[in-house]
Amino acid sequence: MKSVHKPVRECICCGNKFPKNSLFRIVKNDSGIFFDESGKADGRGAYICKSAACHEKLVKQKRLNRAFKGPVEESVYRSLIEQLESTRSAEQETV
Ligand SMILES: [Zn+2]
Repeated sequence: MKSVHKPVRECICCGNKFPKNSLFRIVKNDSGIFFDESGKADGRGAYICKSAACHEKLVKQKRLNRAFKGPVEESVYRSLIEQLESTRSAEQETV
C-alpha cells in the first residue's frame, strides 16, 4: 500500500488543519516578520489559511503575538494582510 506523506499545519486563526502548501506562511527571523511566499525562509513560522475571516481575525486578535511569543507592531500586521490579500485575490483570478 502506498502512503503519501503530506505535511499538515494548523491555521493560527481558525485552528483547522490544512496541507502545508495550501496555507500562507509567516516567518519571524533576524530580519523581522514577513510573508514567506517561498515557504522556505529560515526562522519561526506561523501558518494561516486563505480565508478572509482568518485574515481579519489575525489583525483583530493579534494572533501573531501569540504565535511568535512577543508583541508585533500594528504596521507589520497591516503590511502582512495587504500581501496575503493581494496574493489571495491574484490566485483566485487565475483559477
Ligand atoms: Zn484559518
